[in-house]
Amino acid sequence: MQNKKLSKDTDRRTFLKNLGLIGTAGFFGTGILNTACGASSAGKADNKNKIPGVALVGLGGYATGQLAPALQETRHCRLTGIVTGTPAKEGQWMEKYNIPKKNVYNYDNFDSIVNNKDIDIIYIVLPNSMHAEYSIRAAKAGKHVICEKPMTTNVEDARAIIKACNDNNVKLSVGYRLHFEPHHLRAMELGQTEKMGKVLNTDAGFSFVLNNKSWRLDKEMAGGGPLMDIGIYTIQGACYTKGQWPVEVEAQYGEVTKPELFDSVEQSISFTLKYPDGTTSTHHTSYADNANYLKTTAENGWWELNPAYSYSHISGETLTGPMDLPNVNQQARQMDAFALSIISDTPILATGDMGLRDMIIMEAVYQAANTGKPVSIELKGLDIPGFELHKKVNKSLNRPQL
Ligand code: NAD
Repeated sequence: MQNKKLSKDTDRRTFLKNLGLIGTAGFFGTGILNTACGASSAGKADNKNKIPGVALVGLGGYATGQLAPALQETRHCRLTGIVTGTPAKEGQWMEKYNIPKKNVYNYDNFDSIVNNKDIDIIYIVLPNSMHAEYSIRAAKAGKHVICEKPMTTNVEDARAIIKACNDNNVKLSVGYRLHFEPHHLRAMELGQTEKMGKVLNTDAGFSFVLNNKSWRLDKEMAGGGPLMDIGIYTIQGACYTKGQWPVEVEAQYGEVTKPELFDSVEQSISFTLKYPDGTTSTHHTSYADNANYLKTTAENGWWELNPAYSYSHISGETLTGPMDLPNVNQQARQMDAFALSIISDTPILATGDMGLRDMIIMEAVYQAANTGKPVSIELKGLDIPGFELHKKVNKSLNRPQL
């Protein structure tokens, strides 16, 4: 499908109406037509009169297979640019997505994106070790930033991204697509509102078999193995089910059955997180088996998502029966929500602080596995939205209702 063509002259009221934006104004007490974008004072990421343009940085599997197609479904932002180190991809993407040559960058001329008014949001989809550098360069160019998960390969870099975005007055979000997925929102609601009583335990697993050498198996580039890549979803799931963040972790590495592949990162790891109220969540992640579940036991019931973390076909069940909820385009909703945060200053759900929290937790998980001892986790003063805000923001997307 061709990229949406919207003239800059498009009557603003008409296009907001077409986008379903009118009518959501006031949800958060902010009129969309009187929008004040915090970052517009930077003078570059100014979306006052147009739908925000997104540039994808790194045209690998996720950008190609999920994000670019999702950007054909978004209502509040559109694909306007690309950044790639592979010249052969330029022409293909320009043709497929109607991207003009002036919006195509490589890693050397990337910083000149500062002058490009078609690009408001820069979405970093590179290997993990490159997230910090490119997020910071994007922020310095005055562009809003979406950084893929895991936010970085270490806590220090995550703090540096947050600082750069604050210093340059641009918005930041992490590519946590499941905050816009109905089954996960239901799990969040059941847990945080204690509809079936207090949550006693969440058991979460995400694994798949990885047989090929790639940057994902290189500690320098990935920061770690399956924990950083997919185990992070189990941490996310447990935290937003509980609405609390862990205070302690115990962890064990699994057996290495393929030493030729796993000489740099773990093959498998299991861990238990302990929460302030004394309850726990148990986690397993691996590149050598298959798992995809998020199961919670509460005082008066249970619920389970299985498969839980896929791009589609998520399925959920509770003590009282199947969750009757739609599958949605998670990435389109995620990017639309970020665009709305720019257009109408709605709150960001997957905040930079949330990405930082997960980096702090994952560093503690590795420390616990390396030492064989419990490690305490210090998480204070972080901006991490709860269920009520998730409900409001998701409703404002004007997508299939929850
Ligand atoms: P990929 O290997 O398919 O793509 C990586 C891209 O980075 C490629 O285009 C590659 O050319 C480019 N690149 C630039 N410099 C590179 C270098 N020095 N070494 C290797 N590649 C280099 O990876 P992917 O699966 O697209 O993942 C990219 C990011 O997106 C990762 O951070 C990953 O965790 C994240 N991701 C998120 C989701 C999600 O559901 N949110 C899903 C998949 C991937």
